[in-house]
Amino acid sequence: MENLKNLAKTFSGAPSTPRMPVMFVGHGNPMNAITDNTFARVWEKFGRELPMPKAIVCVSAHWQSRGTKVTAMEHPKTIHDFGGFPDELFAVQYPAPGSPTFANEIAKLTKKTIEFDHEWGLDHGTWSVLVRMYPAATIPVLQLSLDVHLTPQQHSELAKDLSLLRNRGVLIVGSGNIVHNLRRMNMEGAPFDWAVEFDATSKRLIESRDITSLANYPSLGTAAQMAIPTDEHYLPMIYALSMAEKNESLTFFNEQIDLGSVSMRSFVVGG
Ligand code: ZN
Repeated sequence: MENLKNLAKTFSGAPSTPRMPVMFVGHGNPMNAITDNTFARVWEKFGRELPMPKAIVCVSAHWQSRGTKVTAMEHPKTIHDFGGFPDELFAVQYPAPGSPTFANEIAKLTKKTIEFDHEWGLDHGTWSVLVRMYPAATIPVLQLSLDVHLTPQQHSELAKDLSLLRNRGVLIVGSGNIVHNLRRMNMEGAPFDWAVEFDATSKRLIESRDITSLANYPSLGTAAQMAIPTDEHYLPMIYALSMAEKNESLTFFNEQIDLGSVSMRSFVVGG
């Protein structure tokens, strides 16, 4: 009887890992890492409620490179890639381990070349969010860079190749901002009309999973041009949406515009 049970175990294989959600998070002001506000409270809630990941792969707006890279060190350093903020923010450390094993798995999932990186670490696009979601910093974290030579459509294709990571217990987080124009910030807080307009356009296109139109954002009019003066904060959204299946539930959160020109619109798919 015991043998039969063992045989049954053999045929059923290892317990299957539930498909992990994929998220796009508008990270906004780095101070969200240490300020008690509605954005950060929602991040904390996700950290408590999402299935526990085996690893986290973050596509951060703040790492652009020639060629796609993935962090492959055992202990990624915390990078304070900003200036003019209080010492308290520079003192934040996020000592999550890395995972050379997962870095290897990522590189194997695509025919495109992904280089192993041992220099970067975790920039604030990653840690300002994760320090609120997973403050214990015990889950391995990797970053994937944005190759400056790829078109948005090519970024989307790469993301699709990597979406199998979701079946291996990996939480993928795109971290940027859909509307992100720091030259036009309004400290008084009132959102600009073009920011409101493009935020609404992006919402509609994300809901209908229209990656083709989103990738072709220069053709989306003047509001898009104002919202995306450079696309490094926008592309992490393309990664997250490209890893979603059409029939999966998509829920928006933090649907606000901060500082007049920074959309905090975020979403989670599946889970
Ligand atoms: Zn940023």
